[in-house]
Amino acid sequence: MSTSITHWVNNTTFSGSNETTQPVTNPATGEITGEVTLATVEDARVVIDAAAAAFPAWRDTSLAKRSAVLFNFRELLNARKGELAEIITSEHGKVVSDALGEVSRGQEVVEFACGIPHLLKGGFTENASTKVDVYSIRQPLGPVGIISPFNFPAMVPMWFFPIAIAAGNTVVLKPSEKDPSASIWMAELWAEAGLPPGVFNVLQGDKTAVDEILTNKAIKSVSFVGSTPIAQYVYATGTAAGKRVQALGGAKNHAVVLPDADLDLAADAMVNAGFGSAGERCMAISACVAVGPVADDLVAKIAERARTIRTGDGAKNSDMGPLVTKAHRDKVASYIDAGEADGAKIIVDGREVTPDGGADGFWLGPTLIDHVTPEMSVYTDEIFGPVLSVVRVESYDDALQLINDNPYGNGTAIFTNDGGAARRFQNEVEVGMVGINVPIPVPMAYYSFGGWKASLFGDTHAHGMDGVQFFTRGKAITSRWLDPSHGGLELGFPQNK
Ligand code: NAD
Repeated sequence: MSTSITHWVNNTTFSGSNETTQPVTNPATGEITGEVTLATVEDARVVIDAAAAAFPAWRDTSLAKRSAVLFNFRELLNARKGELAEIITSEHGKVVSDALGEVSRGQEVVEFACGIPHLLKGGFTENASTKVDVYSIRQPLGPVGIISPFNFPAMVPMWFFPIAIAAGNTVVLKPSEKDPSASIWMAELWAEAGLPPGVFNVLQGDKTAVDEILTNKAIKSVSFVGSTPIAQYVYATGTAAGKRVQALGGAKNHAVVLPDADLDLAADAMVNAGFGSAGERCMAISACVAVGPVADDLVAKIAERARTIRTGDGAKNSDMGPLVTKAHRDKVASYIDAGEADGAKIIVDGREVTPDGGADGFWLGPTLIDHVTPEMSVYTDEIFGPVLSVVRVESYDDALQLINDNPYGNGTAIFTNDGGAARRFQNEVEVGMVGINVPIPVPMAYYSFGGWKASLFGDTHAHGMDGVQFFTRGKAITSRWLDPSHGGLELGFPQNK
């Protein structure tokens, strides 16, 4: 049965004009399970207006009350996250345990945001000048826009909205049209947690909805996560309209394996980080850089493990699910074809997979490609699928140069038992998030998530203190309470006395 997936405004569903809809599919069966409505400009304005109307009262709600709602949301989420994980699996395709993992990582940001009274404390200087006190406060921005990608329909919105809401902003979330139901489930949870109407809103849609968020005067900031070309567009358009923008883009993440590494540990890590979530993670390892003599042994160990992966329906007992759409599946497969044509060696071929799932599912098994060189499209492009390329290099310096020459700079990892080499790598590599014998170095909620170069446009990363900074603006107040010694007229520039 196909369900209708609508917007969410003022703590209830909102169909809007419903002029255009887009089918939502279960990637493991190919079946159409829903129709998501795509906003018109008028629909988008209804949603944004609701967020603007709710802002003054929410901004003035005490920190004690705001954090109480956050705690309620956290408790409800923790108790019912299994429901959310199943929704994610049914529209994204990732296995349920992986979907639960994404919800748990999002929940950690909610827990961080529960501490907002502490995080918003300002500074105070008594008697900065004679009888003059100076203090700083941080205030919310207003209605904020969040535009999220398909690959983490719960976690990526949760990188932003817990802190935005806790800090006193109101939110318009524009989720991916490929897996929109998680956003409505989270909206219902906020209402149950006691969040007032209009504080958290969902706008379903495509470019029309995004463009209205980017240009509508009521929206004060935009947090975007998605592919690099759209991130660049969002950053340019949003900042030209005077908004604060953080736009996280695509990635090509390398893992360097040095000759002294524990090859079993490294091979496990390559498989987990290369094929988890079918490679549809912005922190997936897609290029394994084998240094010196390790390559043959490493490739054999990765291949042995990759062949044991059970590809199938994420709702069943599989290790790896399907890709999100048929078009994406075919595009990823075309990169394997191109790699083969370019002379790379296909060691494990996902095109030949026998999945445990529907005949019309969007299947592609784990693929390991050896002897990939930096000119091949399988290396240069972000493939976003279960395809791990092995690039063989002679030395640490060659590996470093390869990574630093790459236009992306999201995540990277090094596998070694040499602390000095690891420390050198952490210093020299031009990437925002680095793992040392850790394959997917996603920072904890109290640190900040973000890449460098073409993986992030803007100055602030997501969550942690960067998140608090992004969703508030600073004010400095200089105050003097009159007493008989205030000093009378003085037309010079204020100086400390
Ligand atoms: P996408 O860029 O296609 O879509 C992201 C969002 O932008 C969606 O909400 C979509 O509706 C909207 N959008 C798409 N085309 C648009 C257009 N022409 N104009 C305006 N808005 C548009 O990305 P995706 O395929 O949903 O997600 C995968 C991408 O996201 C990958 O490149 C991945 O690396 C990236 N990603 C990055 C991070 C990170 O932290 N850097 C995290 C997750 C995903």
